[in-house]
Amino acid sequence: MLGKTLLPAVMRLPGDGFLAFIEIEGLTHIYHAGQDNEEKALDGIDLTVEEGEFVAVIGANGSGKSTLAKHLNAILLPTAGVVRVNGIDTRDGSRLWDIRQTVGMVFQNPDNQIIAAVVEDDVAFGPENLGVDPPEIRRRVEEALAAVRMTEFRQFEPHLLSGGQKQRVAIAGALAMRTRCLVMDEPTAMLDPAGRQEVLATVKRLHDESGITVVYITHYMEEAAAADRVIAMENGRVALMGPPRSVFPQVETLKRLGLDVPLAADVACRLRQKGVRLPEDIMTEEDLVKALCPSS
Ligand code: ADP
Ligand code: MG
Repeated sequence: MLGKTLLPAVMRLPGDGFLAFIEIEGLTHIYHAGQDNEEKALDGIDLTVEEGEFVAVIGANGSGKSTLAKHLNAILLPTAGVVRVNGIDTRDGSRLWDIRQTVGMVFQNPDNQIIAAVVEDDVAFGPENLGVDPPEIRRRVEEALAAVRMTEFRQFEPHLLSGGQKQRVAIAGALAMRTRCLVMDEPTAMLDPAGRQEVLATVKRLHDESGITVVYITHYMEEAAAADRVIAMENGRVALMGPPRSVFPQVETLKRLGLDVPLAADVACRLRQKGVRLPEDIMTEEDLVKALCPSS
């Protein structure tokens, strides 16, 4: 099991207290800047993510979610503004591997992320590249596979795994790098409901038990509802941000952003319009039942 103690200590700056784990200031990203086809994908984003937070990012297609994710481990660099990861400016090329080691990425397509022919070799790939000693690599692989509950599949060929299992192996690959933050870009979009459930449960457990920071991009509102904080994007900007309970009841805004609305929040909104008095923070079906039948 990946214990809290295995994660490096939170960085503290002498004199000025804690620095947010991820700090984004005025981040603008323009693809093909200066050319005819230039495209402003991010437009002056200000955002911080604290160590140990679980943040969900939602937003319509093209709103800039993937572009934002790619700034968190320096796959992309700002056209303007600053991104700092654990105090490191992502533009500092000499620290690129520190950043890549701190923030692990998991992408949508499970088949594009596994390179080795055997599961445990794939998990070992990252630490091998970092030049970690073989006995330490073996320890990390064992620990990472246990953390995603994939130990029994260590000798498997990846093509024999389900999509959900492949995503768990991808997560293990990041954990074996001793990553402190997982950035996941629609990791469940290509999975069936069972696979979605197993990936979300794995991420949630790692977050709860190991305190790993999670930035989780998703189209599924029920997944976003599991986060500490939800960020809704629109046209390269943050349109809405807050705990799920304050974001999801904002039915009109979510619809304007082209997003699904949790069924219970939608029904509660329509009942309110008909004059039924209900609390403002209804998000789940359970909340709604409780509000309508308080004694049940
Ligand atoms: P999302 O992940 O929310 O769907 P993206 O970050 O992929 O949004 O895209 C944001 C905007 O940037 C879109 O208008 C998209 O067309 C554009 N874009 C994304 N990637 C590229 C690229 N490699 N080249 C040019 N434009 C891009
Ligand atoms: Mg995307």
